[in-house]
Amino acid sequence: MKEKLVLVGNGMAGVRTLEELLKLAPDKYDISVFGEEPHGNYNRILLSPVLAGDKSFAEIVTHDADWYRKNGITLYKGDKIVAIDRKKRRVQSENGVELEYDRLLLATGSKPFILPIPGHDLDGVIGFRDIHDVNRMLQAAAPGKHAVVIGGGLLGLEAANGLKKRGMTVTVVHLLDTLMERQLDKAAADLLKHELESTGLRFHMPAQTEAILGEPCVTGIRFKDGIELTADLVVMSVGIKPNIELAKSCGIYCERGIIVSDTLQTFDPAIYAVGECVQHRGSLFGLVAPLFEQARVCSNHLAEYGIARYQGSITSTKLKVTGIDLFSAGEFQGGENHETLTLQDPARGIYKKLVLQDNRIKGAVLYGDTVDGAWYFQLMRESADISAFRESILFGQAHVGDSGYGNENKAVNLPDSAEICGCNGVCKGDVVKAIVEKKLYTLEEVRAHTKASSSCGSCTGLVEQILASTLGGDYSTAPSKQALCACTALTHDEVRAAISSAAYQTIRDAMAGMEWKTPDGCSSCRPALNYYLLCRWPGEYRDDAQSRFINERTHANIQKDGTYSVVPRIWGGVTNSHELRAIADVADKYEVPTVKITGGQRIDLLGIKKQDLPGIWRDLNQAGFVSGHAYGKSLRTVKTCVGKDWCRFGTQDSTGLGIQVEKMTWGSWTPHKFKIAVSGCPRNCAEATIKDLGVVCVDSGYEIHVGGNGGIKVRVTDLLVKVATEAEVLEYTGAFMQLYREEARYLERTAPWIERVGLAYVKHRIVDDRRGREALYQGFVAAQQNAQIDPWAELAGNTEYCRQLAPLTLPV
Ligand SMILES: Cc1cc2nc3c(=O)[nH]c(=O)nc-3n(C[C@H](O)[C@H](O)[C@H](O)COP(=O)(O)OP(=O)(O)OC[C@H]3O[C@@H](n4cnc5c(N)ncnc54)[C@H](O)[C@@H]3O)c2cc1C
Ligand code: SF4
Repeated sequence: MKEKLVLVGNGMAGVRTLEELLKLAPDKYDISVFGEEPHGNYNRILLSPVLAGDKSFAEIVTHDADWYRKNGITLYKGDKIVAIDRKKRRVQSENGVELEYDRLLLATGSKPFILPIPGHDLDGVIGFRDIHDVNRMLQAAAPGKHAVVIGGGLLGLEAANGLKKRGMTVTVVHLLDTLMERQLDKAAADLLKHELESTGLRFHMPAQTEAILGEPCVTGIRFKDGIELTADLVVMSVGIKPNIELAKSCGIYCERGIIVSDTLQTFDPAIYAVGECVQHRGSLFGLVAPLFEQARVCSNHLAEYGIARYQGSITSTKLKVTGIDLFSAGEFQGGENHETLTLQDPARGIYKKLVLQDNRIKGAVLYGDTVDGAWYFQLMRESADISAFRESILFGQAHVGDSGYGNENKAVNLPDSAEICGCNGVCKGDVVKAIVEKKLYTLEEVRAHTKASSSCGSCTGLVEQILASTLGGDYSTAPSKQALCACTALTHDEVRAAISSAAYQTIRDAMAGMEWKTPDGCSSCRPALNYYLLCRWPGEYRDDAQSRFINERTHANIQKDGTYSVVPRIWGGVTNSHELRAIADVADKYEVPTVKITGGQRIDLLGIKKQDLPGIWRDLNQAGFVSGHAYGKSLRTVKTCVGKDWCRFGTQDSTGLGIQVEKMTWGSWTPHKFKIAVSGCPRNCAEATIKDLGVVCVDSGYEIHVGGNGGIKVRVTDLLVKVATEAEVLEYTGAFMQLYREEARYLERTAPWIERVGLAYVKHRIVDDRRGREALYQGFVAAQQNAQIDPWAELAGNTEYCRQLAPLTLPV
């Protein structure tokens, strides 16, 4: 006969323990679950998006009635356990159910702490813990009404953001002068406050609340200094209190929480406890990652494997407010014997701080750019010696960068041991293994099998990258389609088609019309939408600079020390004394530390301070230069050899042709960067056969090659066609670029695009179909009329933009 296991608390930690147990010993227990809330289990973390209107409750339910039924679990929902008889091993519920147990698991979570001030029990004073609280807030949340959130911590700010999005005027009241002081240092907290203020949130801090006013409903709030604020709703978010009354009432030893050992057993060996209600080695917990670790260990002991030990957790934090990227972990304040590395870039809204001791990371605060949070966190947990890459560590983990193989990405370079999902402790190796062994093709499938990305969702992009890199070609031809990103179920191609058919002409309209899941999109979909709209409506669409990557926004390449590199366009790689003198003058005037010839035959001014960019652009413009777009998903350079004017092997004027090609194609935005070269003979000194488009001159004309790449994954071009005249080279080049612009997916280089669609298709569209080619060419020429506007000239004259590039002053 099966043993009886009773779970008290149908929340995140308890149900996760059951899931783990079912994997290890599915037939060991008859399981009964009591949950005070009248629902199946849901993802409590995602209550904030429900409050903000970004998700519905149905979307955050993780275990519905079916799940309990399929696993043979009896769920008593909306029924609270009120007594435990440890001698008889029996529990009793509020609704009168009595059950015996062999093992009891307590996972009663915690309650919001309510300040015991006058008025705390008025109608309209609410904590933020469960869906019932969210529903009460939503009932009170009418546009124009006032909400006061007491507590400027993680939950308080998420609540405030949600209520503001529902149209309320929201003031956050905080006891200290630093928001989220348990996760952020002053500099990051001030940036956060600034950014939240710019979205319309108000702050009253430091301030001590004396009383909540009104009778019977809340009408206001008064502070110690006598100031009063109007309030129709007060949300108390000042901390949590482990829910231990039940445990205490049956004599289980508790301090601040239920005391548990490394096996998650309470002082009564038949009773286990996990989650926010426990106290382990003196620590309490308020995030899911450690609770899920506890669940793993606890299930191991319930299954009587008896080999796991819980030894505590190091945690990291993220804030789930759209548009604000924030990460914090460990001893982020620093102190004696600690060193701190910081990077501040206010124009990009970025602040990064790493606290080190003996070249090991002890803590981190990231604001504005949190991509490397997981990496820093891993280095911190492994206590890894970072001295080998200390000087560049703030610039993030080595990545493929824009060498550009479409969706190949940062995830490719991560070791299998790299942790991807912090909440669920899932490593890259686990995800790859599941994809390969279980033949998974979609994010949803990976979530279901590995749990990665299923909690707070901040690792979703990384999981998608692993899917893409693991499945390779199969990913795009997979039976289940690949969405553009987690903000939509639509693919790149579907999004492009909708932009055309529904004639969306702004990012906002496109997102609204296509029912985007997030209000503002993400760093994957915004640049893609911006490009697709720009390509489809070249005359009408107004480029959205905020939806571009940082280098495109600043029209210069950021370097590893935070300075910039500036590359003026040098047509076909041919220059003269006037241009060289002007570049030398700029180098002298702005004390440019390094001047370098690039692989694409241009001159690169390296080490430029951000505030010097407008002056340098202006001076270069006056000398006749335009931007070389060395930072953009756009035409980069046209590399040429000297050709027949000078070289004895030269068959054609490769230099002159290269200049013509560059004058026609410069300024064009493309799905990824686009490089061209023209070689004067098959000796190919300009390396035309590893470019996106390469022209190789021969005695009888010009060979046009396409789809080459000289980056990490070298690919030699395919011969597209051989033509007789320079005019044909221009026409084929324009047509090819336009086809690529119109049909490739954003961030897909020509090489993977051609491999995906096939050379035969490209030939069919460009070589066989004369009319089609001419139309593409005309389309390209027309788009260029709106593209060949020098961004440097525009920005150097834009005083507001130039002001943003001024050096950092942090708010005080
Ligand atoms: C709005 C919000 C946002 C959050 N965001 C994050 C985040 O971004 N990242 C993160 O890591 N964590 C976040 N958290 C914290 C995370 O949700 C909790 O750490 C986690 O849910 C705790 O799990 P638990 O099982 O211990 O408690 P709970 O999930 O609270 O489950 C406890 C359950 O037990 C029930 N219960 C209590 N007593 C009894 C009884 N006597 N009988 C029957 N049932 C009982 C309760 O009703 C409750 O349903 C957030 C929490 C909230 C509220
Ligand atoms: S590619 Fe041919 S023409 Fe051009 S420089 Fe080399 S050898 Fe001379």
